[in-house]
Amino acid sequence: RKFVYDFTEGNKDLKDLLGGKGANLAEMTNLGLPVPPGFTITTEACKVYLETGAEPPALRDEVSAHLSALEATMGKKLGQADDPLLVSVRSGAKFSMPGMMDTVLNIGLSDASVAGLTQQSGDERFAWDSYRRLIQMFGKTVLGVDGDLFEEAIEEAKQAKGVTVDIDLDAGDLRRIVERFKGIVREETGRSFPQDPREQMDLAVCAVFDSWNTDRAKLYRRQERIPGDLGTAVNVCSMVFGNLGPDSGTGVAFTRDPASGQQGVYGDYLQNAQGEDVVAGIRNTVPLADLEQLDKKSYDQLMEIMETLETHYKDLCDIEFTIERGQLWMLQTRVGKRTAGAAFRIATQLVDQGLIDEAEALQRVNGAQLAQLMFPRFDETAASEQLGRGIAASPGAAVGKAVFDSYTAVKWSRSGEKVILIRRETNPDDLNGMIAAEGILTSRGGKTSHAAVVARGMGKTCVCGAEELEVDTKKRCLTAKSPDGKGRVVVEEGDVISIDGSNGKVYLGEVPVVPSPVVEYFEGRMHAGAEDADDLVKAVHRIMAYADRVRRLRVRANADNAEDAARARRFGAQGIGLCRTEHMFLGERRELVERLILADTDEERDASLNALLPLQKADFVELFEAMDGLPVTVRLLDPPLHEFLPDITELSVRVALAEARKDSNENDLRLLQAVHKLHEQNPMLGLRGVRLGLVIPGLFAMQVRAIAEAAAERRTANGDPRAEIMIPLVGTVQELEFVREEAERVIAEVEAAAGADLKLTIGTMIELPRAALTAGQIAEAAEFFSFGTNDLTQTVWGFSRDDVEASFFTAYLEKGIFGVSPFETIDRDGVGSLVRNAVEAGRATRPDIKLGVCGEHGGDPESVHFFHEVGLDYVSCSPFRIPVARLEAGRAAA
Ligand code: ADP
Ligand code: MG
Ligand code: MG
Repeated sequence: RKFVYDFTEGNKDLKDLLGGKGANLAEMTNLGLPVPPGFTITTEACKVYLETGAEPPALRDEVSAHLSALEATMGKKLGQADDPLLVSVRSGAKFSMPGMMDTVLNIGLSDASVAGLTQQSGDERFAWDSYRRLIQMFGKTVLGVDGDLFEEAIEEAKQAKGVTVDIDLDAGDLRRIVERFKGIVREETGRSFPQDPREQMDLAVCAVFDSWNTDRAKLYRRQERIPGDLGTAVNVCSMVFGNLGPDSGTGVAFTRDPASGQQGVYGDYLQNAQGEDVVAGIRNTVPLADLEQLDKKSYDQLMEIMETLETHYKDLCDIEFTIERGQLWMLQTRVGKRTAGAAFRIATQLVDQGLIDEAEALQRVNGAQLAQLMFPRFDETAASEQLGRGIAASPGAAVGKAVFDSYTAVKWSRSGEKVILIRRETNPDDLNGMIAAEGILTSRGGKTSHAAVVARGMGKTCVCGAEELEVDTKKRCLTAKSPDGKGRVVVEEGDVISIDGSNGKVYLGEVPVVPSPVVEYFEGRMHAGAEDADDLVKAVHRIMAYADRVRRLRVRANADNAEDAARARRFGAQGIGLCRTEHMFLGERRELVERLILADTDEERDASLNALLPLQKADFVELFEAMDGLPVTVRLLDPPLHEFLPDITELSVRVALAEARKDSNENDLRLLQAVHKLHEQNPMLGLRGVRLGLVIPGLFAMQVRAIAEAAAERRTANGDPRAEIMIPLVGTVQELEFVREEAERVIAEVEAAAGADLKLTIGTMIELPRAALTAGQIAEAAEFFSFGTNDLTQTVWGFSRDDVEASFFTAYLEKGIFGVSPFETIDRDGVGSLVRNAVEAGRATRPDIKLGVCGEHGGDPESVHFFHEVGLDYVSCSPFRIPVARLEAGRAAA
């Protein structure tokens, strides 16, 4: 095995072996761009090191050989006293990762070679500055010395001299700082700063290997589901110097604006600086465009190189470069991160430039980005005072009065106030407050904190971990630095604040909210062809058209009423995959349901069913009209009946009080009896779904009749109703056969009366493990399956969906037991394998069986890809997720 690759030997497709940075350095080298020579130690070497605790024996010799070659190229030896070759040691895994070791620059400097560097550069200050940087970076990242000690020593030196910026320190000052730094290393580590250049390099390489397994890196990998055994590569790159005076400098650049996607010159440049100085904010950078005045030759060359890179990578690239005395050097490039809006714009721009085709354009965007573009947002043009910034945990723009405890949140929101719940961190006791609030703000915790997980689950705006904000729940206030950084701003209970869950920003006062132009477009209020249509809308329009052209999965909506159905249709729904009839039993109709449940005699029961029938029918007529010509799957009653009855505690109290007053109400007494009778310890596993149809005579028959008569009525009105009747919670084919027989009898009656074939189909949900396991048998009695992946996940894992998010999911996510809740993204291995088997078994029995999914997963990007792979016919999701599902279905097929 070969453990070391020269930059001339690699290429951009070797990321697994050379890491992202190494692969791209090699690619640039081979494109003929000016990259300082160097070599990359592979991830394979890292893996051996981590497994055995030592560098592979062959590595030392390979490194020596490559180092000799590098020394020959550069005409000097590493750390050579009179003219030292210096190198940087840079980590670089396949995915860039927080927690990995920082780069160490200027390796090869020592007490001896600092003199040589002075001689060669003719700049004593530069030499000492480079040396102090080496000891500082090496001390901190390789030897584990607290970095603040070095910073403090520099501060002291500046203060002693009465200057504020580092360039005002002269060679003498820096030499004294080096002495001080060496003292710090001795005091903190009990050994001297290593003077042998090769030892410096080898120690740095091992430190990079070790950094693969820091706690922070491990946690990040678990959360992002990056395999733990990839290892990191190490790049050794000969140094170029941006700190050699005013004709030197260092900068970063983008080939397009990563915020908007606009083409142009974007970046920052800092004269007379090295490495991270440009992003560290120690001095003010200048816009990249100003480089044209400072150094026209380098500027022109850089523009040309950026053009080359864009055409070569066919994408936005970001770049790190350094200019050493008028000579431009490229130090890094990669395909750059971008905002959601920029992703859509850039994808279509690249199509127009002929760089990529439509299928590739679809891979350049994703559903999460589209979802982000659909949230209402704060009006950026409005003047607003920013209090601070936290982690963007759950998107959206929320405005409300600050409250500091759950109780107040609930109380105020009941009286019609909009509130933002502010906590240091949340716990399960805060749940009611979180539900009541418009948004949640915490000063502690990351993306997997309780607040973040629960808020995302509820689709509620959340900013977490805003550490610069001080939350005092006792005094009920939040303290922030004032914008000038000198004073403080105190937000008290009742003061209005605004939080942006898409970028983590927190504002004082009410920031006006504007609807998303992308939603306006989907709603049909903004046309992509219109002159004034924002170019973002145009880009979204084009990408959606590509997706619709290639996708195989159809996309339906979960909708229970005509209004939702109409919106879903505007958003591109091709039918309704789930109409929940229980929503039609609420409000004024609850009383009828109560009567049905309380009925002692057949007559009483029939009377309430007969009263419900026309109401149900009218609902369906409207729904079929809104979805005319498209399939509408109606699910028969599913939830436990007690959901339609009063709460057991409240009712008991009412009855007890009435009895005390000796004025008992006959109806309440009967209700209480019924509530007791229907009370279940585990209602989600109790009397619900098909079980209701089997024990309450006439209930399903009434619903089927309502559907059939509604369909007949639409036909008479020359409509094209396409109803599908879906039976929930079936576990065995016998249940289904029973209900089916009854349904067919009712349908036949309605058809005879109407004199028409209503073409109604009957199918079932697959949402119990037993149903999935016996899908072959169930398909005998089902014309379609709709996978109810919420209940299926609940029953396969044994997780109570209503409880787990608030109780132990945070701990599970933090421990990395799963990277994402299985209720959010389908668990491919467990739940997914049941789905896959049921698909095969169902098709084996009934080749033309229609297969869909109507759980929450139908609108989740990753899950949509899974449903495409297993060959479902459609996914169904909430109306707002439809564009996301269309896009992801297109991406899965492209
Ligand atoms: P990161 O992954 O944090 O960007 P890098 O390895 O790119 O780390 O290096 C950190 C900084 O040091 C960057 O500004 C980079 O351009 C600079 N740098 C790295 N290697 C060299 C080198 N050989 N010569 C000059 N500057 C370098
Ligand atoms: Mg870098
Ligand atoms: Mg269900």
